[in-house]
Amino acid sequence: MTRTVYVNGEYLPENEATVSIFDRAFLMADGVYEVTSVLGGKLIDFDGHAKRLERSLTELDMPKPEAFDELLDIHRKLVEINEIDEGMVYLQVTRGAAADRDFVFPDPDEVKPTVVLFTQNKPGLADSPAAKKGIKVISIEDVRWGRRDIKTVQLLYPSMGKMMAKKAGADDAWLVEDGFVTEGTSNNAYYIKGNKIVTRALSNDILHGITRAAVLRFAREAQMEVEERNFTIEEAQDADEAFITSASTFVMPVVEIDGKAIGDGTPGSRAARLREIYLDESRKAAI
Ligand code: PMP
Repeated sequence: MTRTVYVNGEYLPENEATVSIFDRAFLMADGVYEVTSVLGGKLIDFDGHAKRLERSLTELDMPKPEAFDELLDIHRKLVEINEIDEGMVYLQVTRGAAADRDFVFPDPDEVKPTVVLFTQNKPGLADSPAAKKGIKVISIEDVRWGRRDIKTVQLLYPSMGKMMAKKAGADDAWLVEDGFVTEGTSNNAYYIKGNKIVTRALSNDILHGITRAAVLRFAREAQMEVEERNFTIEEAQDADEAFITSASTFVMPVVEIDGKAIGDGTPGSRAARLREIYLDESRKAAI
């Protein structure tokens, strides 16, 4: 089945959808994005993603696309047309295509944002074998820019980080700055010691994960203690459990950091429980 995608107001077969070579996301990475998961044909945490998108646009002085208030309908329509039961919807908004390449932002009255959405079908997303096995991470230096709270399409370093992990026989990388873990290449990072979850506090240093917010709320409701503060790789290696969160992995246990097994080297019971609660509650609240 040819996938139907959305580009600037039109629903098109993927091979007919085009964006200008002058688009600022192509030339300058001048674009922001969101990824919303789909479970049972419904959207998970849509409102959180829409709010963060709005914040990213504001922080970059990027005009809000005219279609902003239709985004929920567009998401739903793409899920329906492409018959997605489990998977995700990718959304990108860019500052648009100016007449020439220029560092200076174009006049927003003349150049309209580009809006692109497409689906990715991922059968078995919730019942992932990786969640039963856990993943291995390595640590690498965090050399990204200073506004990681904005979800831009500048993903070259996270992409390189995943390649470094792959080369080292691991699944992903945790980023370390000034001796402290910021987050994963495309996820937030946590460890559990006793009844306490430790994760980096929100600031411009990390993306304010939508899954993070939900998981920490469920953890507190389940009487777990949550400490939002800086932590080191050594602390995490010495923990009982570790895990990551993101819209596409939900809660994913981490069983090894830089070659050292966490706990007994298998997914811990608390992370597994948090995954279960997150999936149950998210399915209930899905729209
Ligand atoms: N941090 C980074 C750097 C990310 O790219 C992502 C996912 N895009 C996350 C954290 C997790 O955010 P969310 O839970 O909203 O997917």
